[in-house]
Amino acid sequence: MAGETKHLSGLLPAELEDLTVRLGEKPYRGRQLFEQIHARLATSLDDVSVLPAALRQHLSAQGFSAHGLTISKIQESSDTTVKMGLSTSDGLVVESVLIPMETGAFTQCMSSQAGCALGCAFCMTGMLGWTRNLTAAEIVDQHLLALAGFPERPVKNLVFMGMGEPLLNVDEVVKAIRLLQHERGRNLSPRRITVSTAGIVPGIRRLGQEVDCLLAVSLNAPTQELRAELMPVSRRYPLDELMAALKGFPLPPRRRITFEYVLLPGVNDSPAHARDLVRLLSHIRCKVNLIPFNPFPGSRFARPSDESVDRFLELLAAKQMVATIRRSRGSDILAACGQLAGTKDDA
Ligand code: SAH
Ligand code: SF4
Repeated sequence: MAGETKHLSGLLPAELEDLTVRLGEKPYRGRQLFEQIHARLATSLDDVSVLPAALRQHLSAQGFSAHGLTISKIQESSDTTVKMGLSTSDGLVVESVLIPMETGAFTQCMSSQAGCALGCAFCMTGMLGWTRNLTAAEIVDQHLLALAGFPERPVKNLVFMGMGEPLLNVDEVVKAIRLLQHERGRNLSPRRITVSTAGIVPGIRRLGQEVDCLLAVSLNAPTQELRAELMPVSRRYPLDELMAALKGFPLPPRRRITFEYVLLPGVNDSPAHARDLVRLLSHIRCKVNLIPFNPFPGSRFARPSDESVDRFLELLAAKQMVATIRRSRGSDILAACGQLAGTKDDA
């Protein structure tokens, strides 16, 4: 969306200061507005009662609102995963999922775009195509509205693994991370935000330069040939360029890059694939997250058996590779990895 944002949750304290000064108020009013929206989770301008009524009216009269999204639909899965459908002001639905962890805390899966242009063969979001990038306000709102709407679900970690490719929307994703990490707001630590990418090389470089967060890469195949078949984006950014960019990504001590690997039976899960994967990743500080394929209506792959997933994990572990299995949650409400698809308002 070009031009000035009208959604205040997408503005940093300095930008809100400028705005309130332009409206004839003192700069500290802008900082108050930031704290009310991000720290106190005010749901609307009416709810920001520390500000003078005249300022709130002035902001509304100029078309400003606290948020860019509204909650339109909530679905709860039998395993307590919650899928939120959130409407944009232009009538799209963005999905975000709250996933229970073993610790009792929640991880929130955040969307960065409405749809996705990259068309990976195994992903439902990819099958539906791309509509538009989300704004920083629409990204942070997913988290702010979840915290305000579900106070009993303490969200501790954010992962950009919902709809869209975050590194094809770097400006807004970087800004959203700055907003979420701001000490006057949520003050999230770098280790609590993970950006997952299908391998957009210039985006990886920019992310490393512009913010501090964790990086996950959807690898899904250990060779360029197979990867290009499954993920067309690999023709644009081949595996050797991707690995070179990852070797240059700033990694503080003890931090690792995560490689996601969706297991597709008979396609990428043989012992030879495991061997190639270990070889490919041998010079990089990383861990592998195996994701058993989640089928969706019309998908052409099968769900792998638990035994075959365990077998692949053991092949990696035998070579001292740090690897885990992501048993997906929420598949009964199409909330699991690769199953998000709400691109139009069906609320
Ligand atoms: N576009 C980014 C962010 C979305 S993350 C990216 O691709 O990294 C979505 C994750 O779910 C990716 O790791 C992808 O490989 C995985 N995924 C996609 N479709 C899936 C499916 N049907 N089953 C299991 N995992 C899937
Ligand atoms: Fe897009 Fe990621 Fe799905 Fe590929 S896996 S289509 S990049 S959302």
